[in-house]
Amino acid sequence: MQIVCLDLEGVLVPEIWIEFSERTGIPELRRTTRDEPNYDKLMKGRLALLAQHKLGLPDIQKVIAEMGPMPGAKDFLDSLRERFQVIILSDTFYEFAMPLMRQLGMPTLFCHKLEADADGVVVNYHLRMAEQKREAVKALKALNFKVMAAGDSYNDTAMLAEAHAGILFRPPENVVREFPQYPVVMNYAGLDAEIEAASKKI
Ligand SMILES: [Mg+2]
Repeated sequence: MQIVCLDLEGVLVPEIWIEFSERTGIPELRRTTRDEPNYDKLMKGRLALLAQHKLGLPDIQKVIAEMGPMPGAKDFLDSLRERFQVIILSDTFYEFAMPLMRQLGMPTLFCHKLEADADGVVVNYHLRMAEQKREAVKALKALNFKVMAAGDSYNDTAMLAEAHAGILFRPPENVVREFPQYPVVMNYAGLDAEIEAASKKI
């Protein structure tokens, strides 16, 4: 029995914080873990910025709904789900992802959660667990699945290493250089072909 785990941002949808920063004109929201390695500090800073700009959850979700998935993502995913069970493993939050998941036909998503007050102000965030992408693959293996995983960035490499087959989708050059063991694909046709090829080998 085989299962496919896909990263979300950079694979099926744009990078949510970066795109959100551009659409709202709040450049400080572009900061990532590369600029601020302390994740808690980064997230608290983001929540403070949202509150300062009076952006509650409904406003945020409206902006995210307008982003839409990447061109071709829905067709790729629909076709893949006819042949494999697919789970999306992401470090985003359900409240952010939902407007995009609706446009992707509501595939299964494992991610994290935000906490909003009655006025829709985001007051806190809750990570379900650390290293959840890798832990999910580990758990699926314990359930006797053969796992294929695809992602685009550093936060996917533990998941790729844990899987029976790992694939990089449109990764930045430094990731390609540091992880030469994974095949690199640049579009959905390539990703589909690589998954099919891996499914015959694992
Ligand atoms: Mg990604």
